[in-house]
Amino acid sequence: MDMQTSFLDRLFESGLLIDTGVDGLYGRSGQFEDVIAAFERLIDAFGGGDGAEAMRFPPGMNRAIFEKSGYMKSFPQLAGTVHSFCGSELDHMSLLQCMEVGDDWTKGQEPTDIVLTPAACYPLYPTIAKRGRLPAKGGLFDLQSYCFRHEPSKDPARQQLFRMREYVCMGTEQHVTDFRQSWMDRGVKMMEAVGLDVTIDVANDPFFGRAGKMLVNNQRDQNLKFELLIPITSSANPTACMSFNYHQDSFGIKWGLNLEDGSVAHTACVGFGLERIALALFHHHGLDVAEWPAKVRKALWG
Ligand code: ATP
Ligand code: ZN
Ligand code: MG
Repeated sequence: MDMQTSFLDRLFESGLLIDTGVDGLYGRSGQFEDVIAAFERLIDAFGGGDGAEAMRFPPGMNRAIFEKSGYMKSFPQLAGTVHSFCGSELDHMSLLQCMEVGDDWTKGQEPTDIVLTPAACYPLYPTIAKRGRLPAKGGLFDLQSYCFRHEPSKDPARQQLFRMREYVCMGTEQHVTDFRQSWMDRGVKMMEAVGLDVTIDVANDPFFGRAGKMLVNNQRDQNLKFELLIPITSSANPTACMSFNYHQDSFGIKWGLNLEDGSVAHTACVGFGLERIALALFHHHGLDVAEWPAKVRKALWG
């Protein structure tokens, strides 16, 4: 049995995660949720003074916006779409017949206007663009959403439906890169406060296919993405628990985000993987929260 399986099994046995029969799709216990809620309050404590505008979108987003985002160019392998039965009574009969004999009944499902949100910030950009030009001080937004990625795994830190808390900044290049740097510093301090050892490293996304290789190199060479890594399932390959992305002016151009003087906005986003952070805490301090170091409990629950 490998390490990954055993940590997942221990999480199931303790009830912290609840097996649904699908890899990467888990229920969570009240205790697990309480850790996430406490960590979100810590995020609020660090970020609350910045005056970010809070918004919450559901875990499904407008398909037309998703299409325009270019997600299918970069990550077709991760995307999830919502399909529904839209047929007649006759179609329903053949659907049930199809299910009865164990044939593939999903072929008749038709796409809806909704796709599953791949990252918490995707619905934000067109929403803000609709408002018109950004004020001189730029824009700062606080988001949290369940996100879907089709990457089934036995690694409990790689789930298919998980929550991402994000701050998104829009403004000049200097403004948004300062924002990103300040969250890299805060991220290290926050994890230190809860007794987790971290490293920060440049990172890249798994852009699909041969054309994607160029995007990977570009992202790495230009330091567009950093990750805060914490050992969870392997100390040789620590897990990204936060990511810090600088999009340059690419989203500004795509969505028509402009500053007060008419120039194109630069954007950056900082994401917390909430399940991963909870799992890092359970992995490091043990599955029984009552046994966690007093310092960690105090940082989380006061
Ligand atoms: P990885 O390299 O591990 O696949 P990522 O680079 O794809 O992570 P991002 O796209 O930057 O991750 O997403 C923001 C944050 O969401 C990550 O830093 C991580 O904490 C969390 N996250 C990403 N994918 C998953 C997943 N499959 N399960 C749980 N959390 C995830
Ligand atoms: Zn984002
Ligand atoms: Mg990934």
